[in-house]
Amino acid sequence: MQYVADTIAKLNRTGPAQIEYYQAVEEVLSSLTPLLERDPKYRKHNIIDRMVEPERQITFRVAWIDDQGNVQVNKGYRIEFNSALGPYKGGLRLHPSVYGGIIKFLGFEQVLKNALTGLAIGGAKGGSDFDPKGKSNNEVMRFCQSFMNELYRHIGPTIDIPAGDIGVGAREIGYLFGQYKRLTGRFEGVLTGKKLSWGGSLGRTEATGYGAVYFAQDMLADRGETLEGKTCVVSGSGNVAIYTVEKLYQVGATPVTVSDSSGMIHHPQGINLATLKLLKEVEGASLSSYLVHHPEASYTPVSAYPDGRNPLWSVPCFAAFPSATQNELNAADAEALLHNGCICISEGANMPSTHGAIAQFLAAGICYGPGKAANAGGVATSQLEMAQNASMVQWTFEEVDSRLRNIMNHIYRTASETAREFGQPGNLVLGANIASFRKVADAMIDQGVV
Ligand code: NDP
Repeated sequence: MQYVADTIAKLNRTGPAQIEYYQAVEEVLSSLTPLLERDPKYRKHNIIDRMVEPERQITFRVAWIDDQGNVQVNKGYRIEFNSALGPYKGGLRLHPSVYGGIIKFLGFEQVLKNALTGLAIGGAKGGSDFDPKGKSNNEVMRFCQSFMNELYRHIGPTIDIPAGDIGVGAREIGYLFGQYKRLTGRFEGVLTGKKLSWGGSLGRTEATGYGAVYFAQDMLADRGETLEGKTCVVSGSGNVAIYTVEKLYQVGATPVTVSDSSGMIHHPQGINLATLKLLKEVEGASLSSYLVHHPEASYTPVSAYPDGRNPLWSVPCFAAFPSATQNELNAADAEALLHNGCICISEGANMPSTHGAIAQFLAAGICYGPGKAANAGGVATSQLEMAQNASMVQWTFEEVDSRLRNIMNHIYRTASETAREFGQPGNLVLGANIASFRKVADAMIDQGVV
């Protein structure tokens, strides 16, 4: 596949040292050969070169004052990747690991994920290397206000609508929204993930985790299986992980693990959801405190991970839900999951599995739902929040959840029918990549060379 190597070489030259971005592009392009061979128009219009080059990349200085009166400086990003299908839409990530390569990989994935939802949204991503951990509320507020002082001129309800991601929840969205309103004088749906009393949507908080479980149910149903009575592993303990755990209990499964950046919990009787929410949504505590409430569980700190690998993936399970961060599950982890009988992976996180892990899942023929399909419930529900804001109404939780259920089923059917169309039934990586690429590419061709 010379075109994949050529594209990665060009990306290396024009945007050096962005390894996560090359990884995401390589995974997508490697799936496209059957489409490119069938239909020459994508090469004729040079869609690949146009698709991997963001429409616009904004980087800016975010200066703010900490509680000691010192001036701090972080780097801000907003990459408006592709608007062929609608206004730019995608989250903001606040984490010290953020740099151009991370935001670019997330933006590229977002374009294709948003296309899969069937909704009219383009793709973008943004964020900063600011670390909200250990900062006071006032420091987070001053950072968010400074971030918005630049961002506001690039966004708007029909232009670009940011949302949350790692490190950005309702608190950060509130500070960002307040500053946008102050700068523009407008109360409008410019951000999603807002609190309910000022424009948020019921069901948005739960959407990504619930959606990842719905996606697993749809994959399994095609094989005559269900999650009921099954043991599952979940990684992470943030927004996506918490609501994956919640939905797993609702469908009769037992989630037995969670993790954070300091370690992992294994609780064979089942993760206690109330304790998890208390620690992570109220106290902002490390998972090690879980043992205070449930001494029968076990906690392994990162420093004790054997060979540096998270032991979570070696816990026997029927289904796994990687819901923390990129590249958290490698080939050895995949081997351990398969060896212990895991037959279903539904990715709540973005790009949690390495190329080596994905190759093993596909070779084993298990149900494998790649992130851009399985975790699209979050952005889909963000679009439902935009629709409610635009028409000044608020739907019930049941209304939003039933739309989410239908959207996840639509994504599953689109990916699986496309995989079948191209002679690889069950390969949802190929199905999701071709279906989303084709949709964006066709719109780009319709709209001319811009
Ligand atoms: P949160 O910030 O709420 O939680 C992130 C979780 O992952 C925390 O438990 C965090 O631990 C852990 N984590 C983050 N970075 C690392 C790391 N480098 N190593 C180990 N653990 C880490 O984020 P979300 O739950 O919102 O996001 C999780 C994943 O889901 C991300 O990949 C995100 O892009 C993806 N996603 C999120 C959506 C959403 O709606 N929120 C939508 C679609 C995808 P700690 O708290 O200790 O840092």
